[in-house]
Amino acid sequence: MKILIANWKMNMLSREAEAFCQAFKAEYIPKDGCEAGIAPPFTFLREVASQLAGSGVKTFAQNAYFESKGAFTGEISMAQLKDVGCHGVILGHSERRHIFGETDENLVKKIKAAWEFELLPVLCIGETLTQRDAGFTLDILHSQLEVLKHTGPGPLVLAYEPVWAIGTGRVAEPIQIEEVHSFIHEELWRLWSHHGTEVPIQYGGSVTPENFEGILRVPFVSGGLVGGASMDPKKFQRLMMQMQA
Ligand code: PEP
Repeated sequence: MKILIANWKMNMLSREAEAFCQAFKAEYIPKDGCEAGIAPPFTFLREVASQLAGSGVKTFAQNAYFESKGAFTGEISMAQLKDVGCHGVILGHSERRHIFGETDENLVKKIKAAWEFELLPVLCIGETLTQRDAGFTLDILHSQLEVLKHTGPGPLVLAYEPVWAIGTGRVAEPIQIEEVHSFIHEELWRLWSHHGTEVPIQYGGSVTPENFEGILRVPFVSGGLVGGASMDPKKFQRLMMQMQA
Protein backbone atom coordinates (compact mmCIF):
# COMPACT_ATOMS: atom_id res chain seq x y z
CA MET A 1 0.00 0.00 0.00
CA LYS A 2 1.18 3.54 -0.79
CA ILE A 3 -0.04 6.47 1.24
CA LEU A 4 0.20 10.25 0.96
CA ILE A 5 -0.72 12.36 3.98
CA ALA A 6 -1.08 16.13 4.22
CA ASN A 7 0.17 17.47 7.56
CA TRP A 8 -1.33 20.93 7.93
CA LYS A 9 0.33 21.51 11.31
CA MET A 10 -1.06 24.68 13.02
CA ASN A 11 -2.21 26.23 9.76
CA MET A 12 -5.55 27.13 8.14
CA LEU A 13 -8.93 28.20 9.48
CA SER A 14 -12.08 26.15 9.05
CA ARG A 15 -13.28 28.05 5.96
CA GLU A 16 -9.89 27.51 4.26
CA ALA A 17 -10.04 23.82 5.12
CA GLU A 18 -13.50 23.61 3.62
CA ALA A 19 -12.34 25.29 0.40
CA PHE A 20 -9.36 22.89 0.22
CA CYS A 21 -11.57 19.81 0.67
CA GLN A 22 -14.01 20.96 -2.02
CA ALA A 23 -11.21 21.68 -4.49
CA PHE A 24 -9.33 18.45 -3.79
CA LYS A 25 -12.42 16.23 -3.86
CA ALA A 26 -13.45 17.66 -7.22
CA GLU A 27 -10.24 16.35 -8.83
CA TYR A 28 -9.44 13.28 -6.77
CA ILE A 29 -9.88 9.86 -8.36
CA PRO A 30 -9.11 7.02 -5.94
CA LYS A 31 -6.90 4.17 -7.11
CA ASP A 32 -6.50 0.72 -5.52
CA GLY A 33 -3.36 0.41 -3.44
CA CYS A 34 -2.97 4.20 -3.00
CA GLU A 35 -4.43 6.07 -0.04
CA ALA A 36 -4.76 9.79 0.62
CA GLY A 37 -5.08 11.40 4.03
CA ILE A 38 -5.39 14.88 5.47
CA ALA A 39 -4.28 15.80 8.98
CA PRO A 40 -5.88 19.12 9.96
CA PRO A 41 -5.72 20.81 13.37
CA PHE A 42 -8.03 19.37 16.05
CA THR A 43 -10.52 22.25 15.84
CA PHE A 44 -11.91 21.26 12.46
CA LEU A 45 -11.28 17.51 12.36
CA ARG A 46 -15.00 16.81 12.45
CA GLU A 47 -15.80 19.16 9.55
CA VAL A 48 -12.96 17.79 7.42
CA ALA A 49 -13.95 14.18 8.17
CA SER A 50 -17.56 14.84 7.20
CA GLN A 51 -16.60 16.72 4.04
CA LEU A 52 -14.27 13.89 3.01
CA ALA A 53 -16.78 11.13 3.83
CA GLY A 54 -17.35 8.95 0.77
CA SER A 55 -14.46 10.48 -1.20
CA GLY A 56 -11.93 7.83 -0.16
CA VAL A 57 -9.71 10.47 1.46
CA LYS A 58 -9.08 9.71 5.14
CA THR A 59 -8.81 12.12 8.07
CA PHE A 60 -5.84 11.93 10.45
CA ALA A 61 -5.09 13.83 13.66
CA GLN A 62 -1.62 15.25 14.31
CA ASN A 63 -1.27 13.90 17.84
CA ALA A 64 -3.30 12.48 20.75
CA TYR A 65 -2.87 11.40 24.35
CA PHE A 66 -2.76 7.74 25.39
CA GLU A 67 -5.33 7.86 28.22
CA SER A 68 -8.90 7.45 27.02
CA LYS A 69 -10.44 10.04 29.41
CA GLY A 70 -9.87 11.91 32.64
CA ALA A 71 -8.14 14.92 34.19
CA PHE A 72 -5.65 15.74 31.42
CA THR A 73 -6.38 19.40 30.67
CA GLY A 74 -5.63 20.37 27.10
CA GLU A 75 -5.22 16.82 25.81
CA ILE A 76 -7.34 14.89 23.26
CA SER A 77 -7.88 11.12 23.48
CA MET A 78 -7.93 8.47 20.78
CA ALA A 79 -11.59 7.82 21.69
CA GLN A 80 -12.35 11.48 20.95
CA LEU A 81 -10.54 11.28 17.59
CA LYS A 82 -12.54 8.20 16.65
CA ASP A 83 -15.72 9.98 17.73
CA VAL A 84 -15.20 12.84 15.23
CA GLY A 85 -14.45 10.51 12.30
CA CYS A 86 -10.67 10.14 12.29
CA HIS A 87 -9.11 7.18 10.50
CA GLY A 88 -5.64 7.58 11.99
CA VAL A 89 -3.22 9.71 13.96
CA ILE A 90 0.30 11.02 13.34
CA LEU A 91 2.54 10.21 16.32
CA GLY A 92 6.07 11.27 17.21
CA HIS A 93 6.38 14.04 14.61
CA SER A 94 9.74 15.75 15.09
CA GLU A 95 7.98 18.98 16.11
CA ARG A 96 6.25 17.04 18.89
CA ARG A 97 9.55 15.41 19.90
CA HIS A 98 11.69 18.55 19.80
CA ILE A 99 9.30 21.35 20.80
CA PHE A 100 6.96 19.47 23.13
CA GLY A 101 9.23 16.75 24.56
CA GLU A 102 7.46 13.69 23.11
CA THR A 103 9.19 10.53 24.37
CA ASP A 104 9.56 7.01 22.98
CA GLU A 105 8.06 5.73 26.21
CA ASN A 106 4.86 7.71 25.58
CA LEU A 107 4.84 6.66 21.94
CA VAL A 108 4.59 2.99 22.95
CA LYS A 109 1.48 3.85 24.97
CA LYS A 110 0.06 6.07 22.22
CA ILE A 111 0.43 3.42 19.51
CA LYS A 112 -1.29 0.84 21.71
CA ALA A 113 -4.06 3.33 22.53
CA ALA A 114 -4.55 4.10 18.82
CA TRP A 115 -4.99 0.39 18.10
CA GLU A 116 -7.44 0.06 20.97
CA PHE A 117 -9.68 2.61 19.20
CA GLU A 118 -9.02 1.22 15.72
CA LEU A 119 -7.01 4.22 14.57
CA LEU A 120 -4.07 3.82 12.18
CA PRO A 121 -0.90 5.26 13.77
CA VAL A 122 1.65 7.03 11.56
CA LEU A 123 4.90 6.86 13.51
CA CYS A 124 7.47 9.51 12.53
CA ILE A 125 11.18 8.96 13.03
CA GLY A 126 14.21 10.90 11.89
CA GLU A 127 17.64 12.23 12.81
CA THR A 128 18.76 15.82 13.37
CA LEU A 129 21.54 17.36 11.29
CA THR A 130 23.98 17.13 14.23
CA GLN A 131 23.24 13.42 14.58
CA ARG A 132 23.68 12.87 10.81
CA ASP A 133 26.92 14.85 10.69
CA ALA A 134 28.25 12.84 13.62
CA GLY A 135 27.51 9.60 11.72
CA PHE A 136 24.73 8.47 14.08
CA THR A 137 21.76 8.42 11.66
CA LEU A 138 21.18 4.66 11.70
CA ASP A 139 21.79 4.39 15.46
CA ILE A 140 19.16 7.06 16.13
CA LEU A 141 16.63 5.39 13.85
CA HIS A 142 17.40 2.00 15.41
CA SER A 143 16.69 3.42 18.84
CA GLN A 144 13.48 5.22 17.74
CA LEU A 145 12.27 1.98 16.13
CA GLU A 146 12.70 0.05 19.38
CA VAL A 147 9.26 1.44 20.28
CA LEU A 148 7.87 -1.24 17.94
CA LYS A 149 9.53 -4.00 19.95
CA HIS A 150 7.43 -2.90 22.92
CA THR A 151 4.14 -2.51 21.04
CA GLY A 152 4.34 -5.76 19.06
CA PRO A 153 2.92 -5.87 15.53
CA GLY A 154 -0.23 -4.10 14.35
CA PRO A 155 -1.50 -1.78 11.61
CA LEU A 156 1.07 1.00 11.12
CA VAL A 157 2.49 3.53 8.70
CA LEU A 158 6.07 4.63 9.27
CA ALA A 159 7.29 8.06 8.17
CA TYR A 160 11.01 8.71 7.80
CA GLU A 161 11.47 12.46 8.17
CA PRO A 162 15.03 13.75 8.49
CA VAL A 163 14.58 16.68 10.87
CA TRP A 164 16.94 18.87 8.81
CA ALA A 165 14.68 18.44 5.75
CA ILE A 166 11.37 19.37 7.40
CA GLY A 167 10.14 22.78 6.32
CA THR A 168 13.65 23.79 5.23
CA GLY A 169 13.37 23.35 1.46
CA ARG A 170 16.37 21.01 1.74
CA VAL A 171 15.18 17.60 0.55
CA ALA A 172 17.27 14.49 1.28
CA GLU A 173 19.24 13.06 -1.66
CA PRO A 174 17.81 9.85 -3.19
CA ILE A 175 20.95 8.01 -2.06
CA GLN A 176 20.41 9.14 1.54
CA ILE A 177 16.74 8.15 1.39
CA GLU A 178 17.64 4.76 -0.08
CA GLU A 179 20.15 3.99 2.65
CA VAL A 180 17.67 4.82 5.38
CA HIS A 181 14.57 3.22 3.84
CA SER A 182 16.33 -0.06 3.19
CA PHE A 183 17.67 0.04 6.76
CA ILE A 184 14.14 0.65 8.11
CA HIS A 185 12.83 -2.20 5.94
CA GLU A 186 15.40 -4.56 7.51
CA GLU A 187 14.65 -3.28 11.00
CA LEU A 188 10.92 -3.85 10.50
CA TRP A 189 11.68 -7.43 9.47
CA ARG A 190 13.90 -7.89 12.56
CA LEU A 191 11.23 -6.45 14.86
CA TRP A 192 7.98 -7.76 13.38
CA SER A 193 9.08 -10.41 10.82
CA HIS A 194 6.51 -10.75 8.01
CA HIS A 195 4.16 -8.19 9.67
CA GLY A 196 6.95 -5.65 9.25
CA THR A 197 7.02 -6.04 5.49
CA GLU A 198 3.40 -4.81 5.31
CA VAL A 199 4.24 -1.42 6.84
CA PRO A 200 4.38 1.39 4.25
CA ILE A 201 7.43 3.63 4.72
CA GLN A 202 6.72 7.24 3.79
CA TYR A 203 9.38 9.85 3.15
CA GLY A 204 8.79 13.35 4.55
CA GLY A 205 10.85 16.52 4.35
CA SER A 206 10.36 19.34 1.81
CA VAL A 207 8.46 17.12 -0.64
CA THR A 208 7.14 19.08 -3.65
CA PRO A 209 5.67 18.11 -7.04
CA GLU A 210 9.13 18.94 -8.44
CA ASN A 211 11.03 16.34 -6.40
CA PHE A 212 8.44 13.70 -5.52
CA GLU A 213 8.70 11.57 -8.67
CA GLY A 214 12.40 11.00 -8.03
CA ILE A 215 11.76 10.19 -4.37
CA LEU A 216 9.05 7.67 -5.29
CA ARG A 217 11.55 5.79 -7.48
CA VAL A 218 13.75 5.07 -4.45
CA PRO A 219 13.39 1.44 -3.25
CA PHE A 220 11.17 0.99 -0.16
CA VAL A 221 9.58 4.45 -0.45
CA SER A 222 5.83 3.94 -0.32
CA GLY A 223 4.41 7.43 -0.17
CA GLY A 224 4.96 10.75 1.53
CA LEU A 225 4.12 12.85 4.57
CA VAL A 226 3.90 16.40 3.31
CA GLY A 227 3.74 19.71 5.16
CA GLY A 228 4.21 22.92 3.15
CA ALA A 229 3.21 21.58 -0.28
CA SER A 230 0.08 19.94 1.12
CA MET A 231 -1.78 23.16 1.82
CA ASP A 232 -2.39 23.93 -1.84
CA PRO A 233 -5.03 21.52 -3.24
CA LYS A 234 -3.49 21.67 -6.73
CA LYS A 235 -0.03 20.73 -5.46
CA PHE A 236 -1.43 18.00 -3.24
CA GLN A 237 -3.40 16.65 -6.19
CA ARG A 238 -0.23 16.58 -8.32
CA LEU A 239 1.61 14.68 -5.59
CA MET A 240 -1.28 12.22 -5.41
CA MET A 241 -1.24 11.65 -9.17
CA GLN A 242 2.52 11.10 -9.10
CA MET A 243 2.06 8.44 -6.42
CA GLN A 244 -0.78 6.80 -8.37
CA ALA A 245 1.20 6.68 -11.64
C1 PEP B 1 6.01 17.51 7.84
O1 PEP B 1 5.32 18.35 8.37
O2 PEP B 1 5.96 16.36 8.26
C2 PEP B 1 6.86 17.90 6.72
C3 PEP B 1 7.59 16.98 6.13
O3 PEP B 1 6.87 19.24 6.36
P1 PEP B 1 7.47 19.85 4.97
O4 PEP B 1 6.88 19.03 3.84
O5 PEP B 1 6.99 21.26 4.97
O6 PEP B 1 8.95 19.71 5.03
